[in-house]
Amino acid sequence: MNEMELKQVVAEVVRKLGSQPVIKTKAAPKAGIGQGVFENMDEAIKAAKTAQQELHVMPLEFREKIITRIKEKIMENKEVLAQMAVHETGMGKIGHKILKHELVAKKTPGTECIKTRAWSGDQGLTVIESGPFGVVGAITPSTNPSETVFCNAIGMIAAGNTVVFNSHPNAAGTSNFAVQLVNEAAVEVGGFENLATSVLKPTVESGNMLFKHPDIQLLVATGGPGVVKAILQSGKRGIAAGAGNPPVLVDETANIKKAAADIINGATFDNNLPCIAEKEIIVVAEVADELIHYMTSENDCYMLQGEQIEKLVQTVLVEKNGHYTVNRDYVGRDASVILKGIGIEVPESIRCILFEASKEHILVVEELMMPVLGIVRVKNVDEGIEVAKLLEGGNRHSAHMHSSNVYNLTKYGKALDTAIFVKNAPSYAGIGFGGEGFTTFTIASKTGEGLTNAATFTKSRRCVMADALYIR
Ligand code: NAD
Repeated sequence: MNEMELKQVVAEVVRKLGSQPVIKTKAAPKAGIGQGVFENMDEAIKAAKTAQQELHVMPLEFREKIITRIKEKIMENKEVLAQMAVHETGMGKIGHKILKHELVAKKTPGTECIKTRAWSGDQGLTVIESGPFGVVGAITPSTNPSETVFCNAIGMIAAGNTVVFNSHPNAAGTSNFAVQLVNEAAVEVGGFENLATSVLKPTVESGNMLFKHPDIQLLVATGGPGVVKAILQSGKRGIAAGAGNPPVLVDETANIKKAAADIINGATFDNNLPCIAEKEIIVVAEVADELIHYMTSENDCYMLQGEQIEKLVQTVLVEKNGHYTVNRDYVGRDASVILKGIGIEVPESIRCILFEASKEHILVVEELMMPVLGIVRVKNVDEGIEVAKLLEGGNRHSAHMHSSNVYNLTKYGKALDTAIFVKNAPSYAGIGFGGEGFTTFTIASKTGEGLTNAATFTKSRRCVMADALYIR
């Protein structure tokens, strides 16, 4: 199978699983106290500290053994985890969440990311090795509640750390179950518990304890602007994977039929919950009608007109003192549910809602995280790049483009300056799904580490032997 055929298969699977209503699985477990889940944050940190001291003296091979078993556990539990997340949060699509877990299991790297550099010469041997920080404090989102726990845990354990999670309160059951699976995996290969720990009922207060605790050496936050601000003000080293509002630009040289299919596949994946997903379309006027035609006639999109757009604003946003926030009742919901909210009945097969708007429109400017895409027409690619830059909002997170002109692609990539830039593919290719490279669900956009892996969670340590061990 060539690369193009493989991409088509991925797109077809995404489309099919997205329209699957509910996959029946065995009853979802309820995560209680035990196997790394504690009543309070002090206990969770203490246990992770003890476990880190044990892990640090074990061989690297042992870390790899644990990681292999964690990945098997993810595959064994992917349906249950996907179902738990959708039931607990009310967001996303079970079929797509199963694919996300498969991706984590197959493409999250381990100890192979950790490299040593060496210098040898007349004055001896110097190496720079990457060592663990110790105990990491990690904050996880409701949008990928178990995927983030697994990705973080694999990378952090590979680096020799243990990790204490403070999960989103609305997804704590799913995140805590993932924590328990990590520990179960470790014990099953002859290891010990508490490589990952968490609290049964996480709160902002328990998160603050994590931020301030002297035994936490590194903080990693995956979430929106609130937690990113909190982590950057904590006084500790912080890795911040924040919000995005990824634009997708389509120029007149693009394969428009393919661009339409790719954009809708990317934007409807898990109902637009991924931070990397296309959140608004910018299209050169010359090809705008053609793009809309393919999206509505071949990709199950519903185009809103006139007053319907205003109704959508009133429904999916909440206004307080002239400031808009997203109505959580509609985040990650099916397009048909959102349309029902504004009095439009459509079949469940409708995947995405479209509307045309100006670049200032609130639904285009806000990160909605639902299958709703505003379309902004521009006169040419240069105007398109300016508009995309504005709408990306300086997050420097993700931006995508469809074009066959390498100079336009290059100009866009340089101007947007984002951690992820996907060309001529759905956005999920940027995390290794239908694209090359490893995966992660923590994309450190704000602090610049980009797609995190085990190496991100290490610190650099220089080890010098003077006048010996030089054998050249
Ligand atoms: P959220 O910001 O509501 O919550 C994320 C986490 O931060 C939760 O654990 C929450 O309890 C905690 N939190 C929120 N405000 C806090 C504060 N002031 N102090 C301490 N902790 C706080 O986000 P969500 O709805 O769960 O997830 C969606 C958001 O996360 C989107 O903005 C999305 O773009 C972003 N996200 C980013 C990445 C990435 O890799 N860059 C990945 C997933 C999600």
